[in-house]
Amino acid sequence: MRKFKHFVRDTAAEILHASHLTCPAFRARNKLTIATFHRVLPASILAQYPLPGIAVTPEELRRFLEVFQEHYSVGSLHESARLHQSDQRPEKPLLAITFDDGQLDNYLFALPVLNALNVRASFFVVTDAIEGNEVLWHDKIAYAVQKLQQRDASALQTWLSGLGVQGHASDPVNAAIAAAKLLEPGERAGHVGRLEQLTGSHIRPDWDGMMTWDQIREMRSGGHEIGSHSKSHPILPLVSDEALHHEIRHSRDLLEAQIDHEVRSFCYPNGDYDERVSACVRQAGYEFAVTTRYGINPKDSDPYSLRRIDLQSGYGKNAAGTFRSSGLLLRMTGLLPGMS
Ligand SMILES: [Zn+2]
Repeated sequence: MRKFKHFVRDTAAEILHASHLTCPAFRARNKLTIATFHRVLPASILAQYPLPGIAVTPEELRRFLEVFQEHYSVGSLHESARLHQSDQRPEKPLLAITFDDGQLDNYLFALPVLNALNVRASFFVVTDAIEGNEVLWHDKIAYAVQKLQQRDASALQTWLSGLGVQGHASDPVNAAIAAAKLLEPGERAGHVGRLEQLTGSHIRPDWDGMMTWDQIREMRSGGHEIGSHSKSHPILPLVSDEALHHEIRHSRDLLEAQIDHEVRSFCYPNGDYDERVSACVRQAGYEFAVTTRYGINPKDSDPYSLRRIDLQSGYGKNAAGTFRSSGLLLRMTGLLPGMS
């Protein structure tokens, strides 16, 4: 069944490509396309990483960007979104490149590829996580669940039911993250704390970490955009007015002081926002905010609820495992949510 699905998708991608229907010059003309990356990990590390759905290898990043450069005018979010609003559009459709979460791999493995291809991108960082070199809560859960799966399945099961995950989840890492996401931050921290007691405190693999302020400043001075992804990566619609203000405005003040440059773009943690949240982002002085809703943005789209196209390892590969730009461009049309 999966093979058949792949065959249909590959054939559709080739036909649509041949007829230019997926060609960005046709599909994305006068629109703003925004690509989302998170982790950029060498294949040997990616094979062990518990959330492969948010990672690409440096080689894949390079291949994706080369295809993008052929078909789009590629740049940071601020630069691309400003051009999108103006009448001075470049000949090729606009594509912004964004990276969420500010992890060290962005500096180690994404930056050299971007610089080699002369592509400017936007990096959304979580200020508390940078300050404390602290793993984000979804990674904490992912590493710990992965460890407990191998070590003590029954303790894991007990912890999962305490979190409200019923029965035996086929994908306990993502089931736990989805359940934890709905909790108020203090309650979530309690569950994560109990999980850490079960696994021992050193759950982050040695290769992982956050970028430092020096590395972030180096990126900024190289022409890349630094945007805010809040102070602590909470689910913003669930936090109080006071905490919301803190997460949105104070993260901007702190970032601006650290990088000595204006911060204009915001990225909603986990893509969650509502009217109160986007009003706060606007009032805090940001010009643009990105979501995790899949799609591309027409000319009159709201600058505080921009859609994006998330990318992961394997995208663009056909059933035989060969990379085809037609497969990647089909994903970039905004017509294919949940492709795998
Ligand atoms: Zn995030």
